[in-house]
Amino acid sequence: MFGRERLPVKTPEQILLMRRAGLVVGECLQWLRDSARAGMTTGDLDRQAEDFIRGQGATPSFLGYYGFPGTLCVSVNDEVVHGIPGARVLEDGDLVSIDCGAIVDGWHGDAAITLVVGGDAAARAEDLQVSAATRRALWAGIAALRPGIGIYELGGVIEDSVRDSARADGRRYSIIDGYTGHGIGTEMHMEPTVHNERVRMRGPQVRPGATVAVEPMVTLGTHESHELSDEWTVVTDDGSRASHWEHTVAVTDGGLWVLTAVDGGAAELAAVGATFAPLE
Ligand code: MG
Ligand code: MG
Repeated sequence: MFGRERLPVKTPEQILLMRRAGLVVGECLQWLRDSARAGMTTGDLDRQAEDFIRGQGATPSFLGYYGFPGTLCVSVNDEVVHGIPGARVLEDGDLVSIDCGAIVDGWHGDAAITLVVGGDAAARAEDLQVSAATRRALWAGIAALRPGIGIYELGGVIEDSVRDSARADGRRYSIIDGYTGHGIGTEMHMEPTVHNERVRMRGPQVRPGATVAVEPMVTLGTHESHELSDEWTVVTDDGSRASHWEHTVAVTDGGLWVLTAVDGGAAELAAVGATFAPLE
């Protein structure tokens, strides 16, 4: 379309650098998932993550971002995103979202997971369900990334996935208003916006070389949230619990490469019928 906004793209060499950053983030989150225990503080997780990232020769990207004081965002229960790590002690059954970002040679990776402290045995059924629904919506959005689609169209795909899960689970899920995914590369947050809900516009057309962060945030109650007086932590207005999952993804010539998945997305892409096409 004449005058249509162009989606920025990266060269294969640049995507390979982004994979290095993404792998640091993916491995850090995998390690945190395996080590999070009741009795630890969110600050303990944060220190371990900073050591891990720096030990890989990478730099934490959140630390100092607009003054943010942590390497991770750790958001517990009714906290949706941007939780500041600190003295809070984790308890069995807590629903915890961990968001992590790292920089290698100036290139960024950004991803988030949700876990239940103490594992499935300690979890409320609805917490496992909302986390699974959010993760499913993430992978549905990723699988929809292909040359020719408008990037805003992911919003409808994510919304439909969450609605289908709500029906299947017999729950009311809401997608948090006002927060979205984003383009990523030499900065963490770049154009374009990656919507989590259906919008009227199609947005810039996806083409090979595009790199975006897809990150649905879903609650067991309201879509409305507010920031606490710490000016960071976002909580649901009704106290309902929330889940957040995120990956940084590259659209390659033959398909997709999930830069923050340790396996590059091979397993999950196959499961959702998308083509795994790494550059290495
Ligand atoms: Mg993130
Ligand atoms: Mg992000």
